[in-house]
Amino acid sequence: MLGPVILAASRSDKMRRFVSAAPGTKQVVARFIAGQTVEDVVPIVQELSERGLEVTLDVVGEDITTVEQSYAARDAYLELIGRLKELGLGERAEMSVKLSMFGQSLENGHELALANVRPVVAAAAEIGTTVTLDAEDHTTLDSMFAIHEELRKDFPQTGCVIQAYLFRTEDDARRLAANGSRVRIVKGAYKEPASVAIQDKPEIDKAYVRIMKILMDGEGYPMIGSHDPRLISIGQELARRAGRKLDEYEFQMLYGIRSEEQNRLAAEGHRMRVYTAYGTDWYGYFMRRLAEKPANLLFFVRSILTK
Ligand code: FAD
Repeated sequence: MLGPVILAASRSDKMRRFVSAAPGTKQVVARFIAGQTVEDVVPIVQELSERGLEVTLDVVGEDITTVEQSYAARDAYLELIGRLKELGLGERAEMSVKLSMFGQSLENGHELALANVRPVVAAAAEIGTTVTLDAEDHTTLDSMFAIHEELRKDFPQTGCVIQAYLFRTEDDARRLAANGSRVRIVKGAYKEPASVAIQDKPEIDKAYVRIMKILMDGEGYPMIGSHDPRLISIGQELARRAGRKLDEYEFQMLYGIRSEEQNRLAAEGHRMRVYTAYGTDWYGYFMRRLAEKPANLLFFVRSILTK
């Protein structure tokens, strides 16, 4: 019940101001957000790397309102890639980007987002890594998939994300699996209407399994983005049945969530990538993490009340 309310609040400026100013927020945010600057996140990438984990880095931000902000987003990623290059961390860290932060919802947003993301993908390729396009709300996805296809003409390693809760996703998975793409499958984190998305959690899990099977049996590189132990073990079994070697798929989890499980999968020889978000515009990302688990909200409210 609480999840949809928190997701609605994630789009409210009033709530953004309230949450940002609340005492105790900083401490709870730090559980999910790895820092504010590139210099904050570099030691975390190094530490995760020493634990045998790989990383995908997200400079938090979305729903921008000016073209200048879209250039700033592009430049923030270029700065990050430059720093990874200096430190020789390019091969362990890929990037995740939200096209809304690159201007997708502004006037001529599709072209603007493509023009902004292309140099980031090119810079990532130069240091031996790649970029994955995150999936945002369903109204943005046709544009995201078109940009993904366009980028893959020059940079075939570019990945994208599909969401199990959407009715359209099995078809998207078939297309992407047939054309050999890197694809992250997740359950889906946005508030979506019943006209486009499954609302029942067990049904979303069943769709997730069907989609994993499509990806594992296909030509591409599946990235299993979930903390759900049941789905992770089904993913392992589907990979085995499809005859995939350990380096022919990977697991992904979010920074700050189920770290022991991340270590366990890496120790078993799996490729385990940690989605590590950093930056100052953390509100939308943070609220989605609260919506996913009521206990997080409880912890947050308690930390406000005890300050
Ligand atoms: P759940 O059933 O939600 O969780 C299973 C268990 O994991 C829970 O019981 C709990 O123990 C733990 N857990 C899950 N979430 C939390 C949390 N927030 N705090 C504490 N414990 C938790 N969604 C998108 O819509 N677009 C994207 O591009 C996108 N990218 C993602 C990238 C990665 C690497 C991951 C892991 C998720 C991403 N998501 C994205 C979010 C995703 O859609 C889900 O909202 C999120 O992963 C929770 O679903 P779950 O599969 O972990 O299963």
